[in-house]
Amino acid sequence: MMPSSPNSPPGGQTAETLRYVCQPHHDFIPASQLALQDAPLQSALARLADTLGRRNKEAWAALPESDALRERARAIKDHTLAELDRYLEQLDASVQRLGGHVHYAADAAEAARMITELVLRHGRKAVKSKSMTSEEIHLNQALKAAGIEVVETDFGEYIIQVAGHRPSHLVAPALHLRIEEVAQILSRHAGEPLPADAPVLTQFARRTLRQHFATADVGITGVNFAVAETGTVVLVTNEGNGRLTTALPRVHVAVMGMEKVVPTLVDLAVFLKVLSRAATGQKLSVYTSWITGPRRPEELDGPEEFHLVVLDNGRSRILAGPLRESLFCIRCGACLNACPVYRTIGGHAYGGVYAGPIGAVLTPLYDGLAIHPHLPHASSLCGACQAACPVKIAIPQMLIQLRSMQHAEPGCGGRRERLAYQAWAWLLRRPRLYRLATWLASRTLGRWFARGWIRRLPGALHGWTQSRDFPAPARQRFSDWWRQRRRA
Ligand code: SF4
Repeated sequence: MMPSSPNSPPGGQTAETLRYVCQPHHDFIPASQLALQDAPLQSALARLADTLGRRNKEAWAALPESDALRERARAIKDHTLAELDRYLEQLDASVQRLGGHVHYAADAAEAARMITELVLRHGRKAVKSKSMTSEEIHLNQALKAAGIEVVETDFGEYIIQVAGHRPSHLVAPALHLRIEEVAQILSRHAGEPLPADAPVLTQFARRTLRQHFATADVGITGVNFAVAETGTVVLVTNEGNGRLTTALPRVHVAVMGMEKVVPTLVDLAVFLKVLSRAATGQKLSVYTSWITGPRRPEELDGPEEFHLVVLDNGRSRILAGPLRESLFCIRCGACLNACPVYRTIGGHAYGGVYAGPIGAVLTPLYDGLAIHPHLPHASSLCGACQAACPVKIAIPQMLIQLRSMQHAEPGCGGRRERLAYQAWAWLLRRPRLYRLATWLASRTLGRWFARGWIRRLPGALHGWTQSRDFPAPARQRFSDWWRQRRRA
């Protein structure tokens, strides 16, 4: 029996999988609690540190010049963003010289509308390779609403499209699913039982997707890097689906965030070295495709038309602000693998398209802090994300910056929290009173909790001790100890 189109509603969805269904936003705290109780998700996350996380560390350790390379990548990003308009103009001219077309979208809705119109001009069916930017603009929903059949062709993306889930990781979108669940999802879709066996499931997807590649009118891809000097669009994949998406359909539409431009091929080489190492621990991904314009007269395959959609969607605003460094991100996912918070709750709890430490920065920046008030706090600020990042993005500092922006924004943060900080600030400005308060705390709490930890805080503070202890005040204040010592 032929599998139905992934566009059809995911039939027979179980209660377990409903939590992964696409929704514009859900509250971080209940979503995290749900994730903590999700046994399959927890077992998938437990493996993350030993797989992708370990490979990332090994890859940096095996490359003696890794630090210099990462600094170089950082410097290129910094320079490119400083002259972004110049490099975008150069990229535009290069693509047009090759016979391609460049479109600029101010926001997600405009980008989705542009791509929908491009597809409708050429047919009613599109195949897609993995692209986080297309997730950001909710492209599949827009295409479906216009009556276009769109098929994800990356295996992980295909699984979650069939299941009706959102991606849970930047490079491993179906990370939250065990193989048994994948077999169930694909069996329902195929209308025949498929075993929980990776090669069999892969063969099934391959057979099904080949037919879609051969019959699609348009191929849609993301862009890992776009080289300004040559107009080359670079796709970094491990499955080869990107090549079929760009080679078989008559039209290729590539969508990129405006920060994806790199000035030269020499700069590109630096990013290719760091991206695969950070993402999967590979020296180079299995397929690195360079697409330089549409098919030329002497070429046998490739699209007749090439369109590049350049997306702003808040990036210009971010570029001009204090969190500009978030635009250095090359979407490798290494910070997710390193983060103790992500490794505990997975990707869906973050509520936005981008998860993990960088998602905790990007999602409030794109959607607004008032919509995602918990995300800047979804971090222990341990710095593991920055250590894993190929461009050394200072994520902890940006989260702190977001927290302070949050408190400056009217209506942000709880009333009780604001009052608590105001009371704290008031006390700090009165040294005598502060000394009295610390003396009282050490004489009472410090002595009652002689082991040094409070296991349960009262009232509104109890949330802190739900999953960890609170340090009790010392039995003797440092200032008392110091005075005593000097006297002695
Ligand atoms: S912030 Fe760094 S580590 Fe995280 S996805 Fe972006 S480039 Fe990768």
